[in-house]
Amino acid sequence: MIEIERINKYYGQLHVLNDVSLTIGDGEIVSILGPSGAGKSTLLQICGTLDRPDSGRVLYDGVEVSALKDRKLSEFRNRHIGFIFQFHELLPEFSAEENVAIPAMIGGESRKVSLSKARALLGRLGLSERLNHRPSELSGGEKQRVAIARSLINDPRIVLADEPTGSLDSRNRDEIQRIIAELNEERRQTFLIVTHDATLAEISHRIIRMSDGSIVTL
Ligand code: ADP
Ligand code: MG
Repeated sequence: MIEIERINKYYGQLHVLNDVSLTIGDGEIVSILGPSGAGKSTLLQICGTLDRPDSGRVLYDGVEVSALKDRKLSEFRNRHIGFIFQFHELLPEFSAEENVAIPAMIGGESRKVSLSKARALLGRLGLSERLNHRPSELSGGEKQRVAIARSLINDPRIVLADEPTGSLDSRNRDEIQRIIAELNEERRQTFLIVTHDATLAEISHRIIRMSDGSIVTL
């Protein structure tokens, strides 16, 4: 269970998040919708501990992660939070399996075990023929599937996704939608997704709308 309590965030004079509270239960798929500039990405970054709020708390199972020091926080993030970004953010000089394995190695797992876990995940995502390809040798949909595998390598509590289908065509959007729904079923994986994509919103258990830094209650 993840709790966001009365988060405020300012960029200079700009009040980007205005007293935002949100609870996400285990195994939920929650989508955040809202116009550009509403504060969705900022909220996701704060949920993911990549950014700190100016006030308010972020709790994972009652533990206030917003209070952890940088080193502890990086460890926590590596173990418990997966990220998928709009533009995959894969490392160009590494193969697909290495890209997926890297967060496991950072977490202290051996290279051998990390790569074997990475291969199993890539196989699950239909990429067993692409293990040694570099990102430049993969299609957009394939790169995004590698990014999904990477987000899952440490069996995170939650996967945070910012417009994960935003740069894909409709066929690949459908594919990513199907994969997220299946991973949620199979692994009870929790997802928090910022999206404009109606099909992604379709598989969500709950849709949250944001406007001008606040959650809009319907
Ligand atoms: P969304 O993802 O909903 O489009 P963002 O969270 O990216 O919205 O941004 C919310 C507001 O905060 C926007 O007005 C944006 O320009 C501003 N903003 C975001 N990041 C920064 C930053 N690092 N510095 C200054 N302003 C920012
Ligand atoms: Mg955004």
